[in-house]
Amino acid sequence: MINEQRLVQSFLELVQIDSPSGDEQAIAECVAEKFRALGAQVKIDALYNVLARVPGRGVKQDAKPLFLNAHTDNVAPARGIKPIVAGGQIASDGTTVLGADDLAGVAAILEAVASFAENNKKHAPLEIAITAQEELGLVGAKGLDLDFQAKEGIVLDAGGPVGGIVLASPTHNLIEIIIKGKAAHSARPEGSINALKIAAAAIAKTKLGKLDRDSTCNFGIVRAGTARNIVPDKVEIVGEVRSRNTRKLDAHTRAMKRVFDQVVRGTGAKMEFRVTRAYNRYEFKKSDRLVQRVAKALKQLGRTPRYEMTMGGSDANIWNAKGIKTVVVSVGYEEIHTTSEYLPVAELVKAAELVEALASI
Ligand SMILES: [Zn+2]
Repeated sequence: MINEQRLVQSFLELVQIDSPSGDEQAIAECVAEKFRALGAQVKIDALYNVLARVPGRGVKQDAKPLFLNAHTDNVAPARGIKPIVAGGQIASDGTTVLGADDLAGVAAILEAVASFAENNKKHAPLEIAITAQEELGLVGAKGLDLDFQAKEGIVLDAGGPVGGIVLASPTHNLIEIIIKGKAAHSARPEGSINALKIAAAAIAKTKLGKLDRDSTCNFGIVRAGTARNIVPDKVEIVGEVRSRNTRKLDAHTRAMKRVFDQVVRGTGAKMEFRVTRAYNRYEFKKSDRLVQRVAKALKQLGRTPRYEMTMGGSDANIWNAKGIKTVVVSVGYEEIHTTSEYLPVAELVKAAELVEALASI
């Protein structure tokens, strides 16, 4: 049985350990210790990912292992989180995020393991990856050397009430453009090449925002210039293209490059246009075996599955690429990445129950 009080206590303890992305040692050690105390075999790697194996019990002890994942790192402001429990919800004091993204996922997994241990209830073997630096670009998951046997599982890292199953996520291209012109004193501009003006013209011609049903595009950072009276000779543009359709992604990325090529041509400026793949898409049908398994567990808890598509990435993109089939499920948190982030206690309990149900059906 999921013990609400123990679960809430463990969540409150976790969020009060500072764990901004890149500073996960303390929380990794705490999480590892908790898994060890529950009888798991535990490892911490150099990135402070925690890997835990829990042997199966009863008739399910020889079942195929179930993969479970959540991440420990929080987005800023994440130091000195003071959680407040009131009215059936947990929130921060308003000066930081709450850290339910994704310590709610971590706490739910820990509670399910604790409940199994306490009741000696039947369940499949569990292979658990608690990752670090997810928010920095899935860094922990990408760097993780997985030696798990599990072929499928879930990532507890989506918002909204428990019931949500993410069926599709995009491929993400990171774009870095550098335009190099020629500097000069602004009062003697003859012979200079203003890289900023060229960049501005190219940006103005590029289609941004929602490009089609599956695709988005953005320029997030432009860096240029050194002084008021110097013609800028270098501009750096940081952007991205995402699409749930790889063909469209390639077409949009090529179209962007064409616009920049055309604008730069004949100006005397030079351009570097770099495209890096951040992660690859995945898509599941409702009829998929794993999706059906998660839906069945949700129905056991009295929840109706809610099928969702996202334009965001998560560790699931990495697991799916590494050969562990995973879908992301909602764990109840709301308004993440803001200081208004909150978590209904009832949803945290449901998230733990979902892990329990999934491992025992
Ligand atoms: Zn997250």
